[in-house]
Amino acid sequence: MKITRISVHGLELPFREGSYRCRNHTEYGQTATIVRVDSDEGVTGWGEIAPLGAFYSEAFTGGVRAGLERLGPVLLGADPRETGKLARVMDAAMHGQMDVKSPLDIALWDIAAKAAGLPLAEFLGGRDGMSVALYRSVSQASPEIMLDSARRHVADGYRRLQVKVGDDPVLDAGRLQTIADDMDGSVIIFCDANGAWTSHDALRFVERTRGIDYVLEQPCRTLDENLVVRRHAAIPMVLDESADSLDALLRIHREGVADGVTIKISRFGGITRARRIRDLAVDLGLMVTVECVGGADIASAAIAHMSLSTPEAMRLHTVDFHNWTTVSNATGMPDVADGVMRAPVGPGLGVTPRDDVIGEPLFSCHAA
Ligand SMILES: [Mg+2]
Repeated sequence: MKITRISVHGLELPFREGSYRCRNHTEYGQTATIVRVDSDEGVTGWGEIAPLGAFYSEAFTGGVRAGLERLGPVLLGADPRETGKLARVMDAAMHGQMDVKSPLDIALWDIAAKAAGLPLAEFLGGRDGMSVALYRSVSQASPEIMLDSARRHVADGYRRLQVKVGDDPVLDAGRLQTIADDMDGSVIIFCDANGAWTSHDALRFVERTRGIDYVLEQPCRTLDENLVVRRHAAIPMVLDESADSLDALLRIHREGVADGVTIKISRFGGITRARRIRDLAVDLGLMVTVECVGGADIASAAIAHMSLSTPEAMRLHTVDFHNWTTVSNATGMPDVADGVMRAPVGPGLGVTPRDDVIGEPLFSCHAA
């Protein structure tokens, strides 16, 4: 099988809630870049990346698309099923730039699993359990607005809330207290600062929220700062943004910096490397969340399959990004109910992209 064409599409994904605020930045939606890979045997693969503006990760839309224009031609003529080899080919052709490689790599896995006639979860080693628990973020706002949002998510069936903190620790403690009092132990709460605090802020927050049952997520930016928090706070902790490499994962384990890690597929350049890091984290005894930065149905399908191929006992939760946006870019994601997400059962990602929504490609490259 050979890759004959790579097409890159753009799509705006406004947030259903109107806006999303974390790390003191507000975004009203995301801009998705969708990659389609065609092969000479008629099997087509899809991948998606949707950065949160330019403030959140190293990715931003213009950079991703410029990178794809460079990297796409490198893969033409190759066998799309050779995911490990092609990840090395992409690394040799372009240093770093994981967010550029991610949608290409996801599309290759979609093709490889389709060619094997298996849903991606099975192709990745097997589906463990039928569903994965979902969390819903409570965007930064006043305590009253955040409580409203939390209640709405719980009414929609979600049983895990990720409360966005990282502002003034005293105000944040008040926000958490308001939500925790109202929920009265009926939901699991994570407090995610997205690395916005100093260790000083984080420890003030922890001190003021004693007696509330929650998990602290990525209080500070660097591993060193998070280690300071870890040494002084008797509270379960997970790391997301600073779990960004194999070295970081090994250090988190060796120094006991956290109890779990969030693996965002795009941060690791797609499924090939995210899977490797995920498996190692599991073997090291770290709890795992597999997700991505954003997107809609195509991204959610990749997240669902990777989450479900993670051992159930070691996974925390994930996100149903396709329900965060007003635009659906594919059919086939099973309906979310009772706060859990299932993965499609068809081959590959198991979703069918909506041509009418995705539209014509921004650019494409094809074999001569
Ligand atoms: Mg996080």
